[in-house]
Amino acid sequence: MPQLLTDHDRPVPYITAWTHETPNSRSLEVRHAPKGPFLRYTDEGPGDRDWRGILLIRQPLARGKGRPDYEAVHARRQMLCMRNMLCQVCGHPVEEAEGAEDGSFLFVLPGDRTITDGYRTTSPPLCGDECRRRSLTHCPHLRRAHTTVRARYALPWGVAGIVHDPHTLAERSEALVHVPHDDDLLALTVAYRCVVALAGITDLTTTPDGHRPT
Ligand SMILES: [Zn+2]
Repeated sequence: MPQLLTDHDRPVPYITAWTHETPNSRSLEVRHAPKGPFLRYTDEGPGDRDWRGILLIRQPLARGKGRPDYEAVHARRQMLCMRNMLCQVCGHPVEEAEGAEDGSFLFVLPGDRTITDGYRTTSPPLCGDECRRRSLTHCPHLRRAHTTVRARYALPWGVAGIVHDPHTLAERSEALVHVPHDDDLLALTVAYRCVVALAGITDLTTTPDGHRPT
């Protein structure tokens, strides 16, 4: 079980990246296969791809080294949380959490909106109220507006990553884009996040008669 780290007495969320954990996507090249072009590292080794064969961003694991960068998420820890349903703040399995007896998962999602089945997120679950409060403390965009839901299912959907041009290797966008697992573009993507689709949703920020509190 990971230990909850602190910085100036404030708990630092498990998925927060530290300043010694700068990602790097150097050493990329395009190879051509019968199915089409695909991206690889020139010195690719074990750990550069996930079990689906998706190319992952390289990022040192140095949790606790330097300072926490609350704006940055560590790619591998985010993926670990999504794959194993670990709490994004304390890193513990959420199924052992209070309120999860029905097998549902607690999510706090950015924005004040109605969340319906199929909603896609890169935000891993939370284990309970204490970690929910911690995440709201650290995340400025969640503090501005958020929606709390319980979801019965968090289904693997795809990745959020940077798609590269197969001819120039240039990044096609600055921001991460969502690419589903069955999209050919995945071969030209460096993945930074797992994306799940939520289903079986109960919105905890609506009142029993379906209205959102003001
Ligand atoms: Zn937690």
